[in-house]
Amino acid sequence: MLASFPGALILNDFNRIILYPLKQINALITELHGFLMKYKRPSWDETFMGIVYVVSKRGTCDRGRNAAVVARGKQILSFGYVGSPSGEPHCDDVGHLIRKVTHGDGSESYHCVRTDHAEKNAIKNAKSLRLKVKGATLYTKMTPCIDCANAIKKSGIEKVVCVKKYHRLEGEEILNKAGVKIVYLTDELMKYKKQ
Ligand SMILES: [Zn+2]
Ligand SMILES: [Zn+2]
Repeated sequence: MLASFPGALILNDFNRIILYPLKQINALITELHGFLMKYKRPSWDETFMGIVYVVSKRGTCDRGRNAAVVARGKQILSFGYVGSPSGEPHCDDVGHLIRKVTHGDGSESYHCVRTDHAEKNAIKNAKSLRLKVKGATLYTKMTPCIDCANAIKKSGIEKVVCVKKYHRLEGEEILNKAGVKIVYLTDELMKYKKQ
């Protein structure tokens, strides 16, 4: 008789078997599913960072395939992605153009110099539309490099939101010294080959 019971056998707190009819089990599952799948509206930071990831698909260098969005309040002013200057070959087609940099402390790092970076491109794109980025926030995948940090500092952008840390933090130091707030959404490190 139990084998054909259309429901479930559940042990209650007193280890007594309780027979739950299928209808009741289904209602419980539907309620649980509704609770777990409840729509979570993204914050503005999450929204703009989502756009960073969409735009980054246009990037032509897979060393981070970075993108940046510049926004003021709830409005996007501009975006940019890592890419070769117009008309120049793409890293994805011809490979990276790697330069080794030896730092003051003797450490070495490798950089692809074929491309213009996402942050600088986003600032340049805003300028080309005569949009002022002073006081705006820049969203990007990782800590800006030295060049981009200097461009951000010069632009008057007040806040930088990153997902991950770049393996070198000179850019972060430049932003800190300039009073540009830098926020990380995770404590992960951006990793790709030959950094
Ligand atoms: Zn490259
Ligand atoms: Zn950069």
